[in-house]
Amino acid sequence: MLTYLIILLDDTSTSYCHYEVNRKERRLISLEDLKAGIVFAMKENLNVQFVYPDYELPTEYLEAIDSIDHTDIKSVKHCDGADVIVLSEWDDEIPEDATCIIHSSFGELSEHVMTVNDWLRRFSRLNLVLTGVDKFKDGDIYSYKKTLEALADSVMEMYRQGRSVQLNLLTDRLMLTDMNNCRAGDSNVTLAPNGKFYLCPAFYYEDEKKNVGDLKSGLHIKNPQLLRLDHAPICRQCDAYQCRRCIWMNQRLTMDANTPSHQQCVVAHLERNASRHLQKKLNEAGVRLTGSQHIEEMTELDPFNIVNRWK
Ligand code: SF4
Repeated sequence: MLTYLIILLDDTSTSYCHYEVNRKERRLISLEDLKAGIVFAMKENLNVQFVYPDYELPTEYLEAIDSIDHTDIKSVKHCDGADVIVLSEWDDEIPEDATCIIHSSFGELSEHVMTVNDWLRRFSRLNLVLTGVDKFKDGDIYSYKKTLEALADSVMEMYRQGRSVQLNLLTDRLMLTDMNNCRAGDSNVTLAPNGKFYLCPAFYYEDEKKNVGDLKSGLHIKNPQLLRLDHAPICRQCDAYQCRRCIWMNQRLTMDANTPSHQQCVVAHLERNASRHLQKKLNEAGVRLTGSQHIEEMTELDPFNIVNRWK
């Protein structure tokens, strides 16, 4: 069921997910389309998330935005009033107790474990969005596993000291009982600055022709069931519940929006297993988290390799 509408306010709006924004020229959504998008969200009873560029919007835009309950996603360069702040550098100055996102390659993350630890002591939540997942090799498994375990050990120490820490890659899985994927095109769609709908911002930036309708004719997602978990025979057996199951990356890497690649599965399973490592450490330290779900031991990193078990 559709629950969220993401409104990209400008072509230069910050990226909060796996896609890159390479556009430098401003293209602000027209005021008419912004208002029509808000009416669409009201009629469909959708939660709205606005994604901002790095400049001040005209007053009439801010008034339209304030006419509906919403979440503001802003870059750290222009983050007044933001609900979610997208960082661009590892030494960005951030308000205390913010919810933040940072893009990181695997290599950068391994070099910045201490920075992440420091941020976790100050932020209410940190979402790490990994870049270069498409280039992840089996030879990178050991290094990523070690990085995650180092982070898990620090997170455990913070919990032991009474600080409730949220780091998407490690702590989400502790509490999940089923898949918590991105669900672009299923639970959320994006309205772009051109007044057209897209499965998510990544599809807009990749090719504007990949729209799935517009404000005048409405949403037209062909075969929407082919984006859903219940039509993904391997994913629906999987318990790496924190996986984004990014349909944009799926399409690029497997030519099927509903089927993740080997790389995505391996990365998601390393994170799942690191959550298990964290859980074990918490149990040993006598730290009990309300709602924590037991994570079974699993050695296989790609569910495709154990597909016979589910037949
Ligand atoms: S499909 Fe979802 S996870 Fe992938 S880039 Fe789009 S919003 Fe992000």
